Amino acid sequence: MKIDQEQKKIINEFKTPQSVLSWVISAFSVNNIAFASSLGAEDQVLTDMLSKIVPKLNIFTIDTGALYPESYDLIKKTEKKYNFKYEILKPEKKAVDQIITEHGDELYLKNLELRKLCCKTRKIEPLKKKLKKLDVWICGLRTEQSITRNSIEKVAWDSTFKLIKVNPLAEWTEEQVWKYIKENNVPYHSLHDKGYPSIGCAPCTRAIEPGEDVRAGRWWWENPIHKECGLHNRKDH
Ligand code: SF4
Repeated sequence: MKIDQEQKKIINEFKTPQSVLSWVISAFSVNNIAFASSLGAEDQVLTDMLSKIVPKLNIFTIDTGALYPESYDLIKKTEKKYNFKYEILKPEKKAVDQIITEHGDELYLKNLELRKLCCKTRKIEPLKKKLKKLDVWICGLRTEQSITRNSIEKVAWDSTFKLIKVNPLAEWTEEQVWKYIKENNVPYHSLHDKGYPSIGCAPCTRAIEPGEDVRAGRWWWENPIHKECGLHNRKDH
């Protein structure tokens, strides 16, 4: 199911993330919509908003097998607060074993191609399987997050995964995200207080210095233009 230009125009003019979410919920079958949470601050905001609009929406996250222990703590805390269970997507063990056998444990450090292979195996393949069953996926991307995300729209056709992608927080600033978190007592990742604004797999994430770009701590050894894992491609924002 595609989205036409007229619908896209209307949605992109919605003023609040909640109005974008309410539109999605009313326009599509709830069973064919899911929210992809990476447990970041933006995703925690959307979890809170969704819990107030449609408490039974499918929320999934990907357990790559390389997450920080604090990420699992946040999963438990969020499930408890909002009374739901994440759907946890996992990579196929056989595929992970195979890339490690062929290229070593730390293949992501060897070159960009192998880093992308690791992301593909651990994240994209499980995501692809999940998205095949959906009409719409909701994500917490924001335009100002990095140079790879500067063309994000509130709603767009995702030509990589062939479904509608909704980014209700596209126009929000980091300040708005944190204001919402504080005002609504939203649980958030404990590493955010230790200099980690963007958190992914433990081996590929570090704390940043004051003044650095928010995604500087992700794959910090790479050129910023490459800093996506393939879940969110530039042309599909
Ligand atoms: Fe592998 Fe790092 Fe990508 Fe995680 S972020 S899937 S460890 S390359």
